[in-house]
Amino acid sequence: MSIQKRITLWFTLLTNSVLVLFMGFVYLSAYKNRLNEFYTILEKEAITKINLLLETELDAITLQTIYRENREILYEVEVAIYDGEEQLVYHDAVEIDFVKETPEMFKEIRENKSMQFIQEGWQVLGFVYEYRGKPFFVTAAAYDAYGYSKLENIRDTIIIVLFIGVLFIVFLGRYFAKKIIRPVTEMIMEAEMISASNLHLRLGEGEEQDELKQLAHTINRLLERLEKSFESQKQFVSYVSHELRTPLTAIITELEWALQRERNLEEYQETLENVLADGHGMAKLLSTLLDFAKANYDRSEVNFKPIRVDEVLLDASTELQKSNPEYKVELDFAENSEEEEVTVEGNAYLLSIAFSNLMSNACKFSKNHKCTISISLENNQAKVLFRDNGIGIPKQELNKIFTPFYRGQNKNFAKGSGIGLTLVKKIVDMHLGEIKVTSDVIKGSIFEVFLPKS
Ligand code: ADP
Repeated sequence: MSIQKRITLWFTLLTNSVLVLFMGFVYLSAYKNRLNEFYTILEKEAITKINLLLETELDAITLQTIYRENREILYEVEVAIYDGEEQLVYHDAVEIDFVKETPEMFKEIRENKSMQFIQEGWQVLGFVYEYRGKPFFVTAAAYDAYGYSKLENIRDTIIIVLFIGVLFIVFLGRYFAKKIIRPVTEMIMEAEMISASNLHLRLGEGEEQDELKQLAHTINRLLERLEKSFESQKQFVSYVSHELRTPLTAIITELEWALQRERNLEEYQETLENVLADGHGMAKLLSTLLDFAKANYDRSEVNFKPIRVDEVLLDASTELQKSNPEYKVELDFAENSEEEEVTVEGNAYLLSIAFSNLMSNACKFSKNHKCTISISLENNQAKVLFRDNGIGIPKQELNKIFTPFYRGQNKNFAKGSGIGLTLVKKIVDMHLGEIKVTSDVIKGSIFEVFLPKS
């Protein structure tokens, strides 16, 4: 059963129970009031008759006539008076005699001073009345036709109110249940539209500060995490293909060269050594990328240790120039100078990938294929500067070049995939560093990488 139906059912059941109880209480109290009031009236009427008979010595025949004549119209009280010896003193109409006084009745009246009971709808009251020191047994009986019809009216009104009330409550219950559940229904519809291809969609959180807002917020945070990890997975595949392309091309080129014609033993050996070196490089790269993917950009899962930036730069430039002999990487720092021996807390593989990409871009987008690198210290940070005299980056592209797969207008100048700088930025962020770029289409580009010193 849906929650909406359950809310309606519970609301209707509870509210209707309260209504029925309340109406029942009203009817019961009306019933009791009528009963008690009528017994009081009976007693008063009976006492009036005794007084009329005993005090004013009105003759019994007149009283009986009044009784007989008004009996049907006024529902006159039928009164019987007995003396202490249970002998009849007066009776309104012996031939009608509705109440049959028995010795048991006298006994009960004597013991309890009074008694009440209902006979065929008639209310009967018996009590002891003292007159001038003498006890009299009095019984009075009458039918409360007016009271009963009032009670019936109340009962009919209650039934109508109950009927309308129940319908109204069912309608209200349905309306409110729908209103309460509406945000959930909307949430379900919105959630149904979210799939792997549009994980950027979010649920509406609404204005109310309630549990549903919390739920939507929690689901949205979950979606954010999912989207991030989904994106990471997608990017990882791109990174892998991007990073593996260079060594694979080198291997293919070398093998093709070896197979072009028959080579001597040394040449074959050299080719195999080069291919083996590239193979090792790829294996290393793969494990780094896997490490990178596993880390999912979470610093805590990557192995960090103090490393010398100049050494990483040197290794990266050697590797790059090996696969691109036309590239010229100039490391502009004097050996053993204290400033250049900058040590940072980092992952050497990841940093060499970042540096290699920056060097490669500098050489790739310059006619002279030259990149100049310098290291310095700034505010307890290592600053690594990559400069080229290349074609530069137009101003309007500067804020886009770190976006995955973005290739600026320079894409016609050199081949690429638009992932290199994204990877660089990720790695620098992971090292809690910063990357800045300044470029001029005439002078060339400068990429500055800031890494906190260990
Ligand atoms: P790719 O080099 O594969 O195109 P990158 O992410 O490394 O991708 O670079 C993104 C874009 O930034 C490049 O397409 C190019 O337009 C621009 N770019 C990056 N570095 C340089 C540079 N040193 N000189 C000129 N343009 C650059």
